[in-house]
Amino acid sequence: MQIIYVLVELTARALDRPFSYLDENDEVKCPGVRVKITFNNRHLVGYVVDVKKDDRTKEEILSSSPFLMTNIDEVIDDTPLLDEDLLALANMMKDYYLSPLISIYQAMLPPSLKPTRSSFNAPKIRYDSYVRISKDSDETFLSVKQLEMYRFVKNEKEVAKKDLKNHITVVKSLIKLGKLELFKREVYRTSGDDTLFEERKKVVLNDEQKNVCEDFLRSEDDVYLLHGVTGSGKTEIYLHLASLYLKEGKSVLFLVPEISLTPLMVSYFKSRFKGQVAILHSNLTNAEKYDEYRKISRGDARVVVGARSAIFAPLTNLGLIILDEEHVESYKQDNTPYYHAREVAIMRGKISQAKVLLGSATPSLESYARALKGTYHLLKLTKRIHSLPLPKVEIVDSSDAYVYDKNSIIFSIPLREEMKKALARKEQIILLLNRRGFATRLECRRCGHIFLCPECHVPLVYHRRDELLKCHRCGHVEQKVEHCPECGSNRLSILGFGTEKLEEEVHRLFPLARTLRLDKDIALKRANVRRVLKQFFDGEADILIGTQMVAKGHDFANVSLVGVVNADIGLAFSSFRSAETSFELITQAVGRAGRKEKIGHAIIQTYNPSHYAITCGAKQDYESFFVKEMKVRKNMNNPPYYYLSAIYVETDDEDDCFNSALSIMENLGDELGNNAIVMMDDSKDLVRLNNKFRATIILKYKKFEVVKPSLLNLIVEMNKNRKIHVDVDVDALNV
Ligand code: ADP
Ligand code: ZN
Ligand code: ZN
Repeated sequence: MQIIYVLVELTARALDRPFSYLDENDEVKCPGVRVKITFNNRHLVGYVVDVKKDDRTKEEILSSSPFLMTNIDEVIDDTPLLDEDLLALANMMKDYYLSPLISIYQAMLPPSLKPTRSSFNAPKIRYDSYVRISKDSDETFLSVKQLEMYRFVKNEKEVAKKDLKNHITVVKSLIKLGKLELFKREVYRTSGDDTLFEERKKVVLNDEQKNVCEDFLRSEDDVYLLHGVTGSGKTEIYLHLASLYLKEGKSVLFLVPEISLTPLMVSYFKSRFKGQVAILHSNLTNAEKYDEYRKISRGDARVVVGARSAIFAPLTNLGLIILDEEHVESYKQDNTPYYHAREVAIMRGKISQAKVLLGSATPSLESYARALKGTYHLLKLTKRIHSLPLPKVEIVDSSDAYVYDKNSIIFSIPLREEMKKALARKEQIILLLNRRGFATRLECRRCGHIFLCPECHVPLVYHRRDELLKCHRCGHVEQKVEHCPECGSNRLSILGFGTEKLEEEVHRLFPLARTLRLDKDIALKRANVRRVLKQFFDGEADILIGTQMVAKGHDFANVSLVGVVNADIGLAFSSFRSAETSFELITQAVGRAGRKEKIGHAIIQTYNPSHYAITCGAKQDYESFFVKEMKVRKNMNNPPYYYLSAIYVETDDEDDCFNSALSIMENLGDELGNNAIVMMDDSKDLVRLNNKFRATIILKYKKFEVVKPSLLNLIVEMNKNRKIHVDVDVDALNV
């Protein structure tokens, strides 16, 4: 007889502990496997965390137990899903992120292995399902959400169902209404993601690169930060080090912020390490993910390339973990267990005795500060390959009336001139505007009424392609009307502009230029991202227009001009990191210009021409930015001087939410005294998320161990109350 301790996923945080079940025939071989159990009359899949032999009879056990113990229903696996290292990692994460262990296992495992509703009968898919609009269907009787999807599919003609999996409820409802129809098509396994962008030729490392590699290999340190401007040869170092580790029989984990935005990087790894690379990306079907997972854990793939969650890839004999663009926000998960892949990489490196290499042209302030202190080993590349000069950058002051003329209020004269020249030379252009949609606001010219989101009270953005108004904060969608709801006037004017309008303006000014656009609207269908990047890479368009998606890491040889159309958007956000993210974006964008033989040119339009984030970004001067921003952080008691975590309080009722948050804040303040700064922005409207209100409390502290007991206590106590949900976001980024 065995007693089995099983973790199940339950929403009540207070129940974050294993439950015991009987295993009369000793069917469970070891911890780490999944079992089917019955819990409160519900059939669930649970995760075995412990197995204890018991020599007593069933009657003896039952009579001594304070509650009724039942048998497990079925054992699912023979072998543990997670190896020892990953189990240890899960525990370490639990301690650091204060999340339920089960939520960490969920984050670690691919969908078909998650201990919730695992299914084994998912067949290997050979056909993909697509949706298109049904013949003779129209837009009547659709909610705006449905309309948004309907128009999207209509514009795209057909979309793979898996591409829309984040919107599947809407899609299903449209199918049910007969507006959309499903059809199947055979999958061509050789097409799509398997075509390589470019074979990367092996190069001989230059002296600086050689020194960096030698330093890395010689040193005994655990964590390294490679700081080098864009185009200084970091990628070549990653590839070189990866090949050395592979030769020694070690495996390599390579993380990028987002797979779909880095097709070049993926093809570099695929071509350099043929047959040994597994790519983990969110576009795979569950069956494919499962296969990749097995392939990795069997040791058939020794190099894994993937985004955030690939940090949990079941590689054995791990030698090297690389995080490219370590500063990028998408490494942080924005729901439980709110982990940051960088911190997890460092934990995993410790457990598996693998070295961790973080790389960036614009390291996060936290990482760079740690590197300067010696916590991380700093490695530097100071020159661009072939000593290519940095792009020539011009900052255009948008408040200066003379830089614009009647031909365009979006493109300044200098930017237009440079665009003309680049087009004449048949060189490519990237235009960055970190705001999608067509117009940022719709306003009545008679009474001044502004169309606001009913949930968040921020202006709705007008999207022309589908003729809808959308909230960029909560996703609310509504139809554009012809008349003002306040005064009835039909004089509605659109103000401000986004990428969609930008593209139209380019067509107006340069009718012969071929353009491509890349933003979240386009990326609604994931395959679009790759297609757009590929087309631009192959020279099928002259101008790439988009949000920050166009600024990240691409290596387009023929781009000679980058235009940042409005550099101020990021600075307007209230987050403590807004200067940092603006600086990064401008630096990255400017770095896209003149990657190979051509001398690049960049033009930055801004209303804050002397702001240090912009001036330093223009010069790609990380060091100066770092010094200035560190002063600001110090004055504001922000990271990296203090650790900063957020406490999210969520309830159905707005007043409840606010008052609970207020009392939590006061209690924590009393409890922690001088050990922490506790604050809450009480002027802000509460954010509405999934029909709940959310208040955010900010906690700043120097020592986690001091605040941790209070936080743990808070989580357990508050979550006993079913009406309220309290979550802690350790090292929060977006506050
Ligand atoms: P980063 O990752 O820092 O942006 P890359 O490694 O992509 O820089 O290098 C920039 C360009 O220089 C690439 O086109 C790459 O092929 C080339 N390159 C890198 N290292 C060398 C080298 N040692 N010799 C010749 N070309 C190189
Ligand atoms: Zn009006
Ligand atoms: Zn909204």
